[in-house]
Amino acid sequence: MKKKEELENLKQECQGCMKCELGKTRNNIVFSDGNPETAKAILIGEAPGENEDKTGTPFVGRAGKLLNEFLEKTGIIREKDLYIINTVKCRPPKNRVPSDDEKAACEKYLLKQIEIINPKVMIFCGATALKSFYDKKIQISKIRGEVLELEIGSKKRKCIPIFHPSYLLRYHSLEEGSPRNLMLKDLNKIKNLID
Ligand code: SF4
Repeated sequence: MKKKEELENLKQECQGCMKCELGKTRNNIVFSDGNPETAKAILIGEAPGENEDKTGTPFVGRAGKLLNEFLEKTGIIREKDLYIINTVKCRPPKNRVPSDDEKAACEKYLLKQIEIINPKVMIFCGATALKSFYDKKIQISKIRGEVLELEIGSKKRKCIPIFHPSYLLRYHSLEEGSPRNLMLKDLNKIKNLID
């Protein structure tokens, strides 16, 4: 079966999901964005926000637009190179961080998506995504840009943590060592890993 069909079946399964509390308040499941047949990297964000919940597409609000700008600067093509998901498929009320129980309830879908796409690289976009797969106490600022080899599902995978674009909205400088400058460096590293 082609990746697209397998993912479509999984999405159908997800549509009526009420495995955690988030199912009660969502408007739409936010399943994924990107082309599963050409994607070389999976980018995992935190959770859907208001715009994502309205549209059913991840990273479409202000943070998503900023992410698009950074991708353009580094030559990563969102529609071709990335498959974008979140740690949970439904919006947490008031955009709070999803709980460990909610993430655990939704993990089945996430792991299946990773298995189907089988990416060259996994990008943990922000602390919530990083902590879902790595040491919960680590700060993203200490480890971003490092290439980690982690066992995910039944396979060792190259993973790289980066800042979440919503964090970058607070900073504007591109000076050496600034958060935006580090984001560009990390995305350039990812570009080299997927080329
Ligand atoms: S967040 Fe995931 S587990 Fe919870 S209801 Fe939505 S799809 Fe189901």
